[in-house]
Amino acid sequence: MNMLETQSSRNMISSKTSSSHGTEFNLVQVNGTWIRQAGPCQEKDGKSSDAKIYEKKLDQGASWTVVSPIIFTYRVIQCKDLLDPMNDTLLWGHIGDEDIQASEKAKPVKRFIVIDKTVHQLYGSKVSQYFDARGVIYKILPLPTTEENKNMELVTKILEEVHQFGIDRRSEPIIALGGGVCLDVVGLAASLYRRRTPYIRVPTTLLSYVDASVGAKTGVNFAGGKNKLGSYVPPVATFLDSSFFQTLPLRQISNGLAEMLKMALMKHRSLFELLESNGKKLLHAKLQPSETCSDSEQEDSAAASMRIAIETMLEELAPNLWEDDLDRLVDFGHLISPELEMRVLPALLHGEAVNIDMSLMVYVAHQKGLLTKKEKDRIIQCMLGLELPVWHQDCSLALVQKSLEERLKHSAGSLRMPLPTGLGRAEIFHDMIEDDIICQAFHNWTEELSGFDGGVKDTGEPSTHWGR
Ligand code: NAD
Repeated sequence: MNMLETQSSRNMISSKTSSSHGTEFNLVQVNGTWIRQAGPCQEKDGKSSDAKIYEKKLDQGASWTVVSPIIFTYRVIQCKDLLDPMNDTLLWGHIGDEDIQASEKAKPVKRFIVIDKTVHQLYGSKVSQYFDARGVIYKILPLPTTEENKNMELVTKILEEVHQFGIDRRSEPIIALGGGVCLDVVGLAASLYRRRTPYIRVPTTLLSYVDASVGAKTGVNFAGGKNKLGSYVPPVATFLDSSFFQTLPLRQISNGLAEMLKMALMKHRSLFELLESNGKKLLHAKLQPSETCSDSEQEDSAAASMRIAIETMLEELAPNLWEDDLDRLVDFGHLISPELEMRVLPALLHGEAVNIDMSLMVYVAHQKGLLTKKEKDRIIQCMLGLELPVWHQDCSLALVQKSLEERLKHSAGSLRMPLPTGLGRAEIFHDMIEDDIICQAFHNWTEELSGFDGGVKDTGEPSTHWGR
């Protein structure tokens, strides 16, 4: 089965330092027993491990340093008609190996499904029909997975129900169906249950489709802080079906477009241009293919924009799944927004708070001479076209300064602030930005955009989903 294998870059010790840990031993399995072997691995027939043990004699005895690489393998699969009983993906898409799939199919199949309450109202009967038609023993647990409820109570509730239902923790992955909150909470529960139980993510919002579902992070809010408790355990698979977006309110689509815009601004000019020229159409078509849109070009734009957003996200996440490297482009928009989002909860959605943060940072980048006025204006116009808020009254200068200081404290003494240096280009800045640049950028930002806590400057009309 395509399960979590082994790899911990965090525990990796480079060969340069290995000698300081003592004598290196490889590990080989002979007749079912693992033994240490000094020097290069000589076992031809048995298994060998990538793990190593370093041993050092001490006056008091010995010290052992264990280096045990852990590899995570997970699949991210775009699919259509996920809930069609003829479609195998939901049950078996997480298993890449056909032989393992065949042997799993021969056994009775059991699944535990956690579903967002609203998603359950909309799709619950289709989910039941799917598992009934497939002869699966299943339990569906609908939960109010909202940002305000994103806490350990929900995690405990899931754990109690999973425990009562009973699952094989190696071959019966828990399925999470919902937005980012549902996926994060279920991921944390699965990472705790029997120390690590496989789980599957089925995102039903655009934001969770392009962001929350493709990486390894799970989490809940704690002690007033956003995602303060969590783990880095990816799902065994994520199944992406964009037809779920049809029932999303437009505001939720804009919310997801903010995370797509983040990737565009950081590393993909063509994605930016696509969102700039086609963003409004994509928004109002809810990124659906041509059946619901008049021209076939629309289908291409929707599919292309989602594909690029995921590819660019995976490029940034895969080499740094546990965020050991704190220089992360995907943190753009996430320096001030966590504090802002929690402070005004539930007034701002996650992507909206991220967009307000990005909007201010675009002014900072312009003030620092990294972006021209034209580039800055194009970005803000694009945000407005996506019907995203670009300013918020609670995003005060004091909050901005506090967030940057906190960032400095928690990022090993370096700011590590991603800023755009052009359209689709960015750099990470390590030193604290001069206070006068921040103050001037904040001043200009407020002067030019105050009131645009949502809405469409280009038409002058209030947005369909944003009051002023
Ligand atoms: P959400 O989970 O709160 O969902 C938004 C709303 O949409 C909810 O009210 C939900 O009931 C409703 N909904 C979901 N699917 C629907 C559908 N198909 N039709 C109609 N309504 C539907 O919010 P979100 O924006 O999906 O996710 C935000 C969360 O994701 C935040 O908590 C954030 O921290 C987290 N996140 C996590 C990661 C990560 O890497 N793990 C990345 C980004 C965001």
